[in-house]
Amino acid sequence: MVRVSQQKHPEPRPLVVGNWKMNGTPVTVSALLSALQRHALSGELTARADVAVCPASIFIPQALTVLAGTAVTIGAQNAAAHESGAYTGEVSAGMLAAFGVRYVILGHSERRALFGDQDDVVAKKVRQALNAGLVPIVCVGETLAERESGATFDVVRRQLKAVIEEVGMDALSRCVLAYEPVWAIGTGVTATPAQAQEVHAFLRQMLAASSREVAGQIQILYGGSVKASNAAELFACEDIDGGLIGGASLDSEEFLAICQAAK
Ligand code: PEP
Repeated sequence: MVRVSQQKHPEPRPLVVGNWKMNGTPVTVSALLSALQRHALSGELTARADVAVCPASIFIPQALTVLAGTAVTIGAQNAAAHESGAYTGEVSAGMLAAFGVRYVILGHSERRALFGDQDDVVAKKVRQALNAGLVPIVCVGETLAERESGATFDVVRRQLKAVIEEVGMDALSRCVLAYEPVWAIGTGVTATPAQAQEVHAFLRQMLAASSREVAGQIQILYGGSVKASNAAELFACEDIDGGLIGGASLDSEEFLAICQAAK
């Protein structure tokens, strides 16, 4: 399959993002950050890809401090749908940006399934993140039941359309997309390269119908049980521009190997 990108626009470097989810203690996070700092300073971590890690929000200042002066950037796992105000327990996109955070994962399937982040909420969060100058990593993906009923394309189209309707195509070019089939997240079952590529190409074609330029430039990450042993074959696919890595990003050596598998 030929990527719909414009040959005129050089493709960006691959992007590998670690989603640490609600894991870690001050001690284990400190050890993980030190190992990543070492790999980053030696140049091996970011030799083939741009790299970001997304710790639980309470560890973000620590991550920013330890990884300052390296090429590794920091992301958050969520942000509020509102700018500020009486939203107890929430962290705004503006607060994250003020601390030096670059990315924010939005629409992760765990947020969609467990915390009511439906399409309209995700879209509002993307708007807030863009307004604050963050780069949203917008996650889309189907459940196993949806895949088995042949609804995969309908689901990811609906999820992406909600964001486009809220922010528009131009703003979408300031986002990263992540295709994360729900059945592959944390299950050890990875989409085959063909399954992943098929959906990535679909998303790019969908965007190309509105803007070939945005479709060609936007980074679409794959996420779902990526490990060092399967990363290279996934990253070799034409429309896969990197990965969103959950469990495997908690192991510095495994994460390093995944980052080094980028094409
Ligand atoms: C994720 O949480 O975004 C993810 C892809 O998790 P895992 O790699 O553990 O499947």
